[in-house]
Amino acid sequence: MTTKLSDLGLVLAAAHFSADKHRDQRRKGSRNTPYINHPLEVAERLNRIGGIEDATVLAAAILHDTIEDTETTAAELSRLFGADIAALVEEVSDDKDLHWRDRKRLEIEHSAQASPAARLIKLSDKTSNVADTVANPPGDWTLQRRRDYLTFAEKVADGCRGLNGQLDAEFDRILAEARGKLR
Ligand code: ZN
Repeated sequence: MTTKLSDLGLVLAAAHFSADKHRDQRRKGSRNTPYINHPLEVAERLNRIGGIEDATVLAAAILHDTIEDTETTAAELSRLFGADIAALVEEVSDDKDLHWRDRKRLEIEHSAQASPAARLIKLSDKTSNVADTVANPPGDWTLQRRRDYLTFAEKVADGCRGLNGQLDAEFDRILAEARGKLR
């Protein structure tokens, strides 16, 4: 992008880019929701619940799964949205070449050491995923697998909390609700 975007322009450009990159994907859940609903929800929650107004953080939240789940590269994000946003998205991306067990362990470890903005995005991401274990679970997930996911998400969230009281409380509320429904 040759001209510098306004904050609002940056967030809209991120939404447009992310929608295009995820265009052929659906969430794993039984409701077959378009994938883009998830990153938009993550960003919307950061703003509405957490009061986050920083366009860099909100744009990175909208883009947070593009490296991990589409063919997007960090270089591409850096060119279009700047180095800060590219670095944030990299921070919250898993290495899909690893075995899922290593990936989960590393996600817990990496999140706890990530930058404050990356931890906020991660926390909102986990809140969205925990909500989905109740409202829109993958059709082939057993009850036990859904419960195991909650345990995992709580460990990731533990490393991300302490930055924003409202987002911490929102995660706790959604987790307690999910536990209540999946008992
Ligand atoms: Zn996500």
